[in-house]
Amino acid sequence: MIPYGRQSVSAEDIDAVVSVLQSDFLTQGPVLPRFEEAVAQYCGVAHAVGVNSATSALHIACLALGVGPGDVVWTSPNTFLASANCALYCGASVDFVDIDPHTYNMSVASLAEKLRAARKVGKLPKVVIPVHFSGQPCDMEEIAAFSQEYGFGVIEDASHAVGAGYKDTTIGDCTHSDITVFSFHPVKIITTAEGGLATTNSPELAERMRLFRSHGMTRDRAALAADEGPWYYEQRELGYNYRLTELQAALGLSQLKNLDAWVERRHRLADRYDRELADLPIRLPARLPDRRSALHLYVIRLNQAAHRRQVFEALRAAGIGVNVHYIPVHTQPYYQALGFRRGQFPESETYYDGAITLPMYSAMTDEDQTKVIATLRKLLA
Ligand SMILES: *Cc1c(COP(=O)(O)O)cnc(C)c1O
Repeated sequence: MIPYGRQSVSAEDIDAVVSVLQSDFLTQGPVLPRFEEAVAQYCGVAHAVGVNSATSALHIACLALGVGPGDVVWTSPNTFLASANCALYCGASVDFVDIDPHTYNMSVASLAEKLRAARKVGKLPKVVIPVHFSGQPCDMEEIAAFSQEYGFGVIEDASHAVGAGYKDTTIGDCTHSDITVFSFHPVKIITTAEGGLATTNSPELAERMRLFRSHGMTRDRAALAADEGPWYYEQRELGYNYRLTELQAALGLSQLKNLDAWVERRHRLADRYDRELADLPIRLPARLPDRRSALHLYVIRLNQAAHRRQVFEALRAAGIGVNVHYIPVHTQPYYQALGFRRGQFPESETYYDGAITLPMYSAMTDEDQTKVIATLRKLLA
């Protein structure tokens, strides 16, 4: 089966992990700070906080911004569950902003309309989480302008967008947000097995996220209320154990060297799909001239949604590991039980009905792509 996405791990990556295994520290050693520094440098941001998943990063990002009971967090329905669940972990509630039918990202027109309505009833969001779906950055200038006007925080869920760019900024530099979150799951752009990271330019937010990452405890002598001796630490918040191990950090640091080349490879693969699928009765993904997608996913849409299952099953039967991103979060049973209903976010539902994700990853061979294209052409001819 040709997978829809998979990691690339080199001999150099393996050596990096093995050398940590032979070192003094398997966790809480010197490699994580080096990885954080390297990501911060790559993005051009002041602080990077590595954690054991993007899900954890979203959780501590919400906590750092003060999300709690009585607050509302808005995100896109076209995302992985974690972008919405993070608000529920904090005791806040979630609502959704429908997607733009062209980019499949949060629609700024829908956001504007929903903000006006929310202001009237006094239920403005505490935080909005735009998701850079498929690696293509959202309309961040517009979202940042709304955050100023309405006073909400912004967390970019850039799980798909490691290595992406928006206008003259790098995703992760937090030019238009408080915090940006990356995922290093193996299907994403670079991997640490499980792993994630949050970037910010705010020293206060970085400090709070570091506290929440490790039990809410500090040993920073300058910050301690008392000093009972060299062993002394204090718990300041109800934190978690969300730490990234040294093994994972070493893998991430080694993987990071390939990031630009891998995103470039994804662009070449996407260019070829664009060319060789152009005449089929499907909608190809939009690419916008003012931003550079990391191209985590290549999603096609069938014109007749009724055929999606048939085409999907035929591709799987032919050894093409297609997938679907995403089942709109508000249609999940858990969210239905919270009161959401089908039909509430129609663009995301219509999009979902016809979407298929084709295989695309940095190590994909030209031969594998030829097979995907030929199989799809035969099915849709
Ligand atoms: C993968 C993903 C996550 C969760 O990432 P993990 O590192 O697996 O926790 C969150 N949001 C989006 C959009 C994702 O694709």
